[in-house]
Amino acid sequence: MNGQARSGAVLSVDLDALAANYRTLSTMAGPGRCAAVVKADAYGLGAGPVARRLTEEGCDTFFVATLGEGLALRAMLADDVGIFVLNGIPPGAETEAVKANLVPVVNTMGAIERWRREARRQGAPLDAAVQVDSGMTRLGLSKEDVLTIAGNPDLLSGIRPVLFMSHLACADEPSSPANMAQLKAFRGLRSLFPQIPASLANSSGIFLGREYGFNLARPGAALYGINPVPGADNPMRPVVSLKARVLQVREVGEGVSVGYGHRYRATRDRRLAVISIGYADGWMRHVDLGAIHGKKCLPLAGRVSMDSITVDASGIPPDRLREGDQLDLINGRQTVDAVAAAAGTIGYEVLCGLGQRIAREYVHSHGN
Ligand SMILES: *Cc1c(COP(=O)(O)O)cnc(C)c1O
Repeated sequence: MNGQARSGAVLSVDLDALAANYRTLSTMAGPGRCAAVVKADAYGLGAGPVARRLTEEGCDTFFVATLGEGLALRAMLADDVGIFVLNGIPPGAETEAVKANLVPVVNTMGAIERWRREARRQGAPLDAAVQVDSGMTRLGLSKEDVLTIAGNPDLLSGIRPVLFMSHLACADEPSSPANMAQLKAFRGLRSLFPQIPASLANSSGIFLGREYGFNLARPGAALYGINPVPGADNPMRPVVSLKARVLQVREVGEGVSVGYGHRYRATRDRRLAVISIGYADGWMRHVDLGAIHGKKCLPLAGRVSMDSITVDASGIPPDRLREGDQLDLINGRQTVDAVAAAAGTIGYEVLCGLGQRIAREYVHSHGN
């Protein structure tokens, strides 16, 4: 409760819903296994509590983006849990990565060469995930690089390739021909290294069909309740809710202007509530969504400030809305995806943007 009293807003993470989502994704990704992507502090939810709960569900492989995230996660997990670093290990930090048993995703010939050098220093082979570019044109070895290695396997000597992976660019658009094109390109490159376990699908990729599952799926967003199939019903359980405290309730008459730029003007008597969340918490200025009180939606009244928003609470009797009450900003009705749509962005950015000033609490809904 301490953290909550100190902060104006609380992000509640339902660990049982998270676990249920992991089970759903594991089943769908089968017969291959299912990892969990916990980069960016598990999309803002808290990598430690999220990863610990998922290990209880049998998840033994995690992906982070940076070395720093990997080191922090290792301190919270057992030594034998697999942690892959998607952006690789920066030059000079290889030994530190080995000490923490972190496995780099090697994306370039240079990264492979540096990891081989580290293996020589260690006098033992080192695990690595080899990422290939199958059409996204972001990270990963080119087709030419892959052919070069296939023609000269010594280029991998000292490295134990434990994963052959690639990433999909358009998985959230099931009708995009880019998905099949990437699948074909990935299959072609993979056929040169058939003995290495393969991984292609992110959250949305799992929903493209079993052929995208390979040996290991890598969901992030869907674990956290973001809809992996935009446009269709969300198959995932909601995991997060966000509440913020009412700081002040005020009655205003017709003609009274509110907030920066006086962007809101009361056209009749209104009851307003000022709530403790703002753009410094990641509640974006473009979000044209207010709060929820019980079953009522309270529209935004004016601009989002750095530390507060004001909503029109005229529909709530004064004795039902008091200073100190909590209002919902994200819940099962006003979902992460709905907030994102109102802000012209995606659920990923909404979650990742929620700042450290917001307290995190971990709850158990039990229901499956
Ligand atoms: C972030 C990321 C994922 C997870 O993607 P989601 O869409 O959140 O499931 C998987 N693989 C790679 C390479 C990533 O960068």
